[in-house]
Amino acid sequence: MSYKIELHCHTSPVSGCSNMKGQDLVRYYAQAGYSAVHITDHFTPWFFAEQDFTDYLYGYHAAKKAGEKLGVKVYLGAELRYESNPNDYLLFGVTEDFLKGAKELLKSTYPEIFAYCRQNGVLIYQAHPFRDGMLETPPEMLDGIEGYNMHPHHRSRNEKAIAYAEKHGLNYLSGSDAHSKEMVGRGGIISDTLPEDSKGLRDLILSGKYELYHEGEVVE
Ligand SMILES: [Zn+2]
Ligand SMILES: [Zn+2]
Repeated sequence: MSYKIELHCHTSPVSGCSNMKGQDLVRYYAQAGYSAVHITDHFTPWFFAEQDFTDYLYGYHAAKKAGEKLGVKVYLGAELRYESNPNDYLLFGVTEDFLKGAKELLKSTYPEIFAYCRQNGVLIYQAHPFRDGMLETPPEMLDGIEGYNMHPHHRSRNEKAIAYAEKHGLNYLSGSDAHSKEMVGRGGIISDTLPEDSKGLRDLILSGKYELYHEGEVVE
């Protein structure tokens, strides 16, 4: 038995750029043959300037509830951007308490955010590091990068990202970065085991026992 797991997707209205409610997203992923989804809504200082922490979890909870009915595991994740930098970072292995603490660091610096992830056993991967406008993160302050970002409407330059990861000995992953039904199911990983929760997903990534999944046309 093998399981397909999405690592990067967005729910509406938590991610203002997504048009899929959590429950719809899970339904589309079930139809696409996925066993699990890692919800990575945009976690930014601009979100929290207007909304509360509980609002951030709305899409995750809606997805989780739908997932229980449809037999799809739903993991809590985040795509973090802090105030003084344009980059996006995917976090693996988060809990609600971890995110509450991370929210207080969004006006600080990258080394502080990285240290907080390390202290809490959370993996930090730079998302689409060669998309326009992204800046380099010191490789020693990353667990890896998103080598395959399958978003069809951005130049993510995946080949460049993968070459960079190989050069610096960084692990790399694959994600759809789905914001709409049409963008569902283009990326992720395939594994013989199905993690129970976010920590289990982190452990699976650390184990390296998975294949990368990426399908469909990519803008380079
Ligand atoms: Zn977005
Ligand atoms: Zn994203």
